[in-house]
Amino acid sequence: MKLQSIRGMNDLLPDQSPTWQYLESVIGDVLARYSYREIRFPILEQTELFKRSIGEVTDIVEKEMYTFEDRNGDSLSLRPEGTASCVRACNQNGLLHNQIQRLWYTGPMFRHERPQKGRLRQFHQVGVEAFGLNGPDIDAELLLITARLWQALNIDQAVTLQVNSLGTSADRKVYRAALVEYLSARHDQLDEDSQRRLHSNPMRILDSKNADTQALLNDAPVLQDYIDSESKAHFNQLRAMLDAADIRYEINPRLVRGLDYYSKTVFEWVTSSLGAQGTVCAGGRYDGLVEQLGGKPCPGVGFAMGMERLVLLLDELGVVPDSVAQTVDLYLVAVGDVGQQALVLGENLRSHCPTQRLQTNCGGGSFKSQMKKADKSGASIALILGEDEAANNKVGVKFLRQDRPQETVDQDQLANLINTLTID
Ligand code: ATP
Ligand code: MG
Repeated sequence: MKLQSIRGMNDLLPDQSPTWQYLESVIGDVLARYSYREIRFPILEQTELFKRSIGEVTDIVEKEMYTFEDRNGDSLSLRPEGTASCVRACNQNGLLHNQIQRLWYTGPMFRHERPQKGRLRQFHQVGVEAFGLNGPDIDAELLLITARLWQALNIDQAVTLQVNSLGTSADRKVYRAALVEYLSARHDQLDEDSQRRLHSNPMRILDSKNADTQALLNDAPVLQDYIDSESKAHFNQLRAMLDAADIRYEINPRLVRGLDYYSKTVFEWVTSSLGAQGTVCAGGRYDGLVEQLGGKPCPGVGFAMGMERLVLLLDELGVVPDSVAQTVDLYLVAVGDVGQQALVLGENLRSHCPTQRLQTNCGGGSFKSQMKKADKSGASIALILGEDEAANNKVGVKFLRQDRPQETVDQDQLANLINTLTID
């Protein structure tokens, strides 16, 4: 039997990791500029945490969680998302009561879905959560963060923002009843999935992909008509802030999100460049969640970005700078019996030229074959140490990407020379 990874759980290979690192560093920079701090929590939690936060009758909890009993017989689950764990960690460590927190996290999430492009069983998110703030200003801040991020990544032309307000959970209860009444009378015209959801999670029917169901919804009750005046005011203020900050958005009255815990603002950033898996970032407000998980009442709002989808989008649009893929600046060619000197020379350079990435040829080989490796490495300079150079404490400097004559310099002058060059 061949040993293979689990379906939908991918390896990240070294050719792809520079793009990931680039994406992660741009996100990290932007979040730091808004003074968000990182929090880390475990990948495994008690199953109960996700049942109580995400909701028993959601797709995630019903069908997608990796749940198992550990050796003590406790039911544990691999986290399917980060918000529940983040709230649990904050409650447990006393970070929320009478405090404001601006937090972010990153890492793998697990959902047993049908693997396809942009949909995996182990996928990665960067999540951002803000606690202790009631007003629409923090909702707007989160959207400003994302908008700035798309600009920094050069994908802002390819994504659009959809927003909606879900009101309070009391509002939704009333609305849900009206929706169920409307749809029950048209039960036979619903697709199979929607028929099943009619009693378990009827609001999910609103984002059904089935065209007939969507047509049926045109005359259905609209959530906006059911939300309370405070939620309405919150939404209107948010819209005014987005307008003032020049953030374009569409109101999508059918945007409901899959999880139970949202209230008031919900949003998604979507792209048409990735086929069906078009949502690259999604989030909203969840004012009741902290209390629901045993904390003192504390408002919260956040979002999560799907890293695989963002990487796909970056690749699709070809917007990753070429320099990102380059991992070698200098390649040290060492021909003949010069191994020890090459090692010392290399270490000397690493001490004095800390920004340079130096690869030393290991394993010998002819001058010609080593020069080939130097070229293939992407380095802009080959440093050449043959037995002649070694005997005279010299080293050859050959420019691989510039029309510039080769030089020979004293070994103790090499670091100086490298530091004065602008290498591209
Ligand atoms: P979708 O409607 O695409 O299933 P979702 O509503 O289930 O998304 P969220 O729980 O809001 O997704 O997660 C936030 C983001 O994480 C999504 O917008 C998406 O970019 C990413 N994401 C969610 N599930 C997956 C998955 N199985 N594989 C890859 N990325 C995912
Ligand atoms: Mg999903």
